[in-house]
Amino acid sequence: MSLRTQNSLRDSLRRIDGRGYKAYKDLRGAYDFGRYALFIDHVQGDPFASPSRLRVRVPAAVAQFAPALFSNRARKTALEDYLTRGFGAACGARARRDRGSGKSGQIYTADCAQEVLERTSARVTSEHVEARFFLGLPAFGRRIAGRQAEEMLFHDVPAIVTASLLYGSLPAAEVLRHVETVEDAQALRGQLEPSKLVAFVREGAVLPRESGVSDRPLQGQVVPFESPDSLRVEMEGPNCGRVAGMGIPEGVTLIVGGGYHGKSTVLNAISRGAYDHLPGDGREYVVAHEDAVKIRAEDGRFIEKVDISPFISNLPFGRDTTAFSTPNASGSTSQAANIIEALESGAKVLLLDEDTSATNFMIRDERMQALVAKEKEPITPLIDTIRTLYEERGVSSVLVMGGSGDYFDVADTVIMLDGYRPHDATEAAQAIAEEHRTGRRVEFAGHFTDRRARVPLAQGVQARRGRRVRIRARGEEAISFGREEIDLSAVEHIVEQSQVRACGWIIHEAADRLFDGKRGLPEILDLIERELDGEGLEAMVPDLAADYARPRRHELAAALNRLRTLRVAQR
Ligand code: ADP
Ligand code: MG
Repeated sequence: MSLRTQNSLRDSLRRIDGRGYKAYKDLRGAYDFGRYALFIDHVQGDPFASPSRLRVRVPAAVAQFAPALFSNRARKTALEDYLTRGFGAACGARARRDRGSGKSGQIYTADCAQEVLERTSARVTSEHVEARFFLGLPAFGRRIAGRQAEEMLFHDVPAIVTASLLYGSLPAAEVLRHVETVEDAQALRGQLEPSKLVAFVREGAVLPRESGVSDRPLQGQVVPFESPDSLRVEMEGPNCGRVAGMGIPEGVTLIVGGGYHGKSTVLNAISRGAYDHLPGDGREYVVAHEDAVKIRAEDGRFIEKVDISPFISNLPFGRDTTAFSTPNASGSTSQAANIIEALESGAKVLLLDEDTSATNFMIRDERMQALVAKEKEPITPLIDTIRTLYEERGVSSVLVMGGSGDYFDVADTVIMLDGYRPHDATEAAQAIAEEHRTGRRVEFAGHFTDRRARVPLAQGVQARRGRRVRIRARGEEAISFGREEIDLSAVEHIVEQSQVRACGWIIHEAADRLFDGKRGLPEILDLIERELDGEGLEAMVPDLAADYARPRRHELAAALNRLRTLRVAQR
């Protein structure tokens, strides 16, 4: 593409100053700013619409990042993440509110959580460094504010580029630490499976978060993580060397302990351990299997033809549970469907917290068995299926279970938290299980092998509203998809709004190209992943905007499964 001169951009701005907003459309194109190229890819329709989409591209010879900083996938993702954060901070320092109406004067890029994700906001290659961002082209009312625009494009953007995209102006040690930390975390995660572990929590890790609404580390009185001796393992990262911490073995693990002793905090840290974290997060060396999925009850959710029969059978009116559909699931049926769907998307570790589980799905005790006969109870509680899941499918589980000692019978490992300090209580729990035999009978309904494959059908996935495809993220909670709203509030592994947006577009794209009426959902997820691995997120999102981040296959499936118009065929 041929670049226009920056003077031609300046001339255009002066020419259109004071004119109607539509005249901004003429600016679309690429401009040579000497040290970098500026791309104006999309111009907003008016000052109140979503800001315009721009990119800056700095040649490698100018940006000067050593190839070692992006020599493998982990490092590249980490460096791009670092650049996004720096670029965003530099934008924040420059954005001003006094430049006109509506979104005039805004400059920003992707808003990053504590996790290091693959995003579209920055790209580093051997040729160049590219940052993508949004800019509110300024206007007073609907009249173009050319002088303000000139200030932004000729003053602010160059300053942001200098501050955040040139290696020479960055703290070298911090950049390196960012890249090395992510590379280490991925190396540790890679050692879990060969070591027959599902998670690793490094000694000294800081697990509690600042508050229910802030995912930053808790400041002040924190008890740093300390592994019980019997569960302590050593792992090795290419940069951090040997590190010690608690290894959670495969199988069934219980986390027990009194209320407020930190159980959920440990489980949540493990759950987020499927992702990498920023240095300084406190959880940067807390890693979990990449296919760990948090499971919870989610009453009210939509379910389409899910075989929940291993958990639920004999429903009133003889309803079939091998292809169970409902617009309005109960706590227990939703939790059962969440597990079966997680298995379908390839989960290897299930994480459950009593706080967010349906009690009747988790346990049916001796007395309840005596009162309500098995024939009158459709639910086989998880306590009777969780070992089968491990034995038949190799799927491990970690359960926070402070309320029912019946689970001692099925646990391989019991971790007890006492004042935020974990102890290995496996032997004690087993001794108690021996000593206090209950009259509880094991109930088991079905098996987890040979589930029927679900084939999603394209016609149920309709993002068009009128002639336009309409996909919007509503925070981390929902996708507005055509005329439908996909509720993701119970999908705990979504950490950024940009993942939500990407989920919506990938589903739309996949329905279009990959839903052929024959492929099962797992095969479709494989194809999506292969494409994203090979070509990057850009392969399945509609533009080069900054605000897409890669969801895991489990979250893609979760979003699709919650689309109320979804129809599947069973094979
Ligand atoms: P539980 O699930 O056992 O009831 P939580 O995990 O919800 O307990 O933790 C209770 C409170 O203790 C939370 O406010 C949490 O932030 C805090 N907390 C958890 N772990 C620690 C720790 N290691 N140091 C300090 N505070 C912690
Ligand atoms: Mg709790």
